[in-house]
Amino acid sequence: MTATASLSGMDTAAGTASSPDRVPDPADLISFDSLLTPEELALRDTVREFVRAEIRPNIARWYEDAHFPLEIVPELAKLGLLGMHLHGYGCAGRSAVEYGLAGAELEAGDSGLRTFVSVQGSLAMSAIHKHGSEAQKQEWLPQMAAGEAIGCFGLTEPTAGSDPGSMTTFARRDGESPTADWVLTGTKRWIGLANVAKVAVVWAMTDAGVRGFVVPTATPGYTATPIQPKLSMRASIQCEIELDEVRLPHDAVLPNVTGLKGPFSCLNEARYGIIWGAMGAARDAFEDALAYSKERLQFGRPLAGYQLTQAKLVDMALEINKGFLLALHLGRLKDAGKLAHHQISVGKLNNCREAIEICREARTILGGNGITLEHSPLRHANNLESVRTYEGTDEVHTLILGQQLTGEAAFR
Ligand SMILES: Cc1cc2nc3c(=O)[nH]c(=O)nc-3n(C[C@H](O)[C@H](O)[C@H](O)COP(=O)(O)OP(=O)(O)OC[C@H]3O[C@@H](n4cnc5c(N)ncnc54)[C@H](O)[C@@H]3O)c2cc1C
Repeated sequence: MTATASLSGMDTAAGTASSPDRVPDPADLISFDSLLTPEELALRDTVREFVRAEIRPNIARWYEDAHFPLEIVPELAKLGLLGMHLHGYGCAGRSAVEYGLAGAELEAGDSGLRTFVSVQGSLAMSAIHKHGSEAQKQEWLPQMAAGEAIGCFGLTEPTAGSDPGSMTTFARRDGESPTADWVLTGTKRWIGLANVAKVAVVWAMTDAGVRGFVVPTATPGYTATPIQPKLSMRASIQCEIELDEVRLPHDAVLPNVTGLKGPFSCLNEARYGIIWGAMGAARDAFEDALAYSKERLQFGRPLAGYQLTQAKLVDMALEINKGFLLALHLGRLKDAGKLAHHQISVGKLNNCREAIEICREARTILGGNGITLEHSPLRHANNLESVRTYEGTDEVHTLILGQQLTGEAAFR
């Protein structure tokens, strides 16, 4: 383990921010780093080094074995990456831009890794941080930030995906008293980390609308079964959760929100992270293809020497540069408290769509070798099929932007 500096305790003066020997990103045509502060660069370099040392040597095997490496959770916690944008309760309290930079580096390793940090921090921890009682925050957030408790976020159901308002999971009160238990029944699907989580944030319909519940996964009636086999996100876990008369105390409900704005406020945090993460995967695919094109000889010359290859590389690099600029702009808006919901859709839709195209184009440069796990582009492209689907599909974000442009809602 070579990269153990905690982000919150990083000595920026001694960090790598002004390091004269930083190798520029091969895709960077616009001096992107000049837009970042020394603290942001130092954080990015720390996470990049962690991915280089701990993820890259292992990711092909984890992907092949469909293994989520639980063993790295303590390292992610030590780096301060779990709930890193949250304040208090043991969280690192970093900016939105710093959260995004870390997400891009993690996803350059594998989308499954960034997804874990996103589910833990942006979904499960954010739900408790934004909407929980003080007692819920004190109980769960410190242990989640420390990686001692994994959290999951149960919104999607087998028949309620893009339209979560049609959920059928129901929470009823067992009696009239204000201290009466809640009883949850229903099925959730595609829930990340649900079989290794210690706590699940479950959204359920009640007589008063959608409410969130903090469910310790050891509660009788909770069962999580991994969905497999998968062709995407193989180094990550998603489950179906059965909730069979799960009995919870009255104070298990998140007290501070009712309705779909509860889960949506968390999804927006996660969607923001994806804007950066997708470009991290794209950048890694580009770098793999660029390096290969310089080595691989056909017709007596390196592939990089052919105009058709150069056109592919240039188109990829242009989109990577634009994608990171967009991510940074939206991150700066978020840090200023000015990021509008539809602007998150701009970033999520654009960067996922471009990233998947970049990864597929990178694969073509690798020829047959591009379909092996020795190279990253096809693994990234397969992962990005999930990334473009969760937290709102391409179509859902198109509808959000269509409504923004026209004033007409076309969802139903
Ligand atoms: C790897 C992975 C991890 C996930 N993690 C989680 C998690 O941790 N927690 C969680 O709650 N969920 C999670 N999800 C679920 C994810 O959010 C849903 O898959 C997503 O919301 C889409 O829902 P669906 O799969 O039911 O597709 P559907 O909603 O059935 O959509 C199918 C297709 O129809 C399109 N469509 C839907 N409505 C319209 C419309 N009005 N107009 C035009 N087209 C439309 C969609 O865009 C899509 O192309 C995860 C999913 C995946 C794949």
